[in-house]
Amino acid sequence: MIILKNATLIDENANVRTRQDIIVEGGIIRRIVSSDSPQEDIAGGNSPERSAYLNNIRDDDEVIDCTDYVVTPGLVNLHAHTAMNIFKGIAEDVEADVWFNEMIWPYESRMTAEDIYTGTVLGIAEMIGNGVTAVADHYFGEEQVLKAALDTGIRMDIAPTVFGTAPDFKDRLSQVKEFIKAHSNDSDRVALRFGPHSNYTCPGSTLEEIVDTARSMNLPIHLHLSEEEPQVITSREKTGRTPFEVLHDAGGFQTGVLVAHGLWVEESDVPLLGEDTWFAFCPKTYMKLGYGRGGFFSNYDRLHFGFGTDGAASSNTVNIIEQARLFALLEKFERRDALVMDAAAVWKHLMEGHTALPFGSGRMQEGAPADLVIWDLWTPDTCAFYNPLSAILYSAGSANVRYTMVGGEFLKADGRLKLNVKELMQDLRLRQKELLGRGKGKAQVYYG
Ligand SMILES: [Zn+2]
Repeated sequence: MIILKNATLIDENANVRTRQDIIVEGGIIRRIVSSDSPQEDIAGGNSPERSAYLNNIRDDDEVIDCTDYVVTPGLVNLHAHTAMNIFKGIAEDVEADVWFNEMIWPYESRMTAEDIYTGTVLGIAEMIGNGVTAVADHYFGEEQVLKAALDTGIRMDIAPTVFGTAPDFKDRLSQVKEFIKAHSNDSDRVALRFGPHSNYTCPGSTLEEIVDTARSMNLPIHLHLSEEEPQVITSREKTGRTPFEVLHDAGGFQTGVLVAHGLWVEESDVPLLGEDTWFAFCPKTYMKLGYGRGGFFSNYDRLHFGFGTDGAASSNTVNIIEQARLFALLEKFERRDALVMDAAAVWKHLMEGHTALPFGSGRMQEGAPADLVIWDLWTPDTCAFYNPLSAILYSAGSANVRYTMVGGEFLKADGRLKLNVKELMQDLRLRQKELLGRGKGKAQVYYG
């Protein structure tokens, strides 16, 4: 057992409770009881057996005094190209078409398996450091991505990317299908789904072919849709339909869909969405690449959404709190209304993102996976604080994440990552040198 004693808890609905003990056992939250009267549960219900754990503490049980700490569910990142941490800072202050066509895709075309593995571990390290316990990844090189997920212990929903424009499209689709079949039971911390890159890189019948394959295996998809306004305009010119209409006609909304971005979703797109359609909103990328204020902002009240970071090559960090913070600030600023997206509202959206993934995490409840963050807010960055939730949302950084726990296992403890950062940095330096030495290749796809 791990016992987090005397903590302040913030649950997924932004409720704050002080003086609580959390008992973790077998990878789940076994009990949450009042520190003062442990027979009481979180709702004030009372039964003598609730305090039984106190009589059963063994020498090898770990007790962490959380008197000065705040415990929340782990954070979730709904859209990342985790391996792209290796490209962080490689294409700065350029337009989206230059970013894709002249920088990222040419470099990616010469990536090796080692680059993908190291980049993914690097991205995961940053996420764990910032309290992320579950991430939806969208990238190629899925064998390496999977290995990185298993080696590090984060929960990862992996969508191997498929481009309909690739000359080997059919082979690639069957390769992904076989990969998913082979690895669907590897770990309860890994989930797999199909990742068509986007409607514009999956033209003709290719999008439908991917959707059909996913549906035949009863799996959801994760793809980019209506990320930037020109994509919507081009889609209308080429097909007479918006990207959402194209996906709808391909049967896409009849399965679960994780929409990366959807920044330029239109009002008429909303009725097309399925019950299990989720948006991963990544405001830092939109601000950095100058995408403008799309239809998402006038429609989000009717959408299921959480936050994503996108790849670190466009957003420079994979810190999900930063994305939630930027969204709240953007809304307040643009609408000239300080009340429009308060800390509780933005926290609920952040937590709701867990529902888009199949791990059952993101709940401060007995029986839920023990995916938790223990925050130390008694630092100069966050002090003074009067409300722990707003301190986390508006002030905190990775230094405030004291512990990150996934399935009852600490991936960060006492402020230090479990994985070997020194070794990772050495490996990264080598990879970075080789990557620049190889230079840019010819991309198979074109943005715009
Ligand atoms: Zn993306």
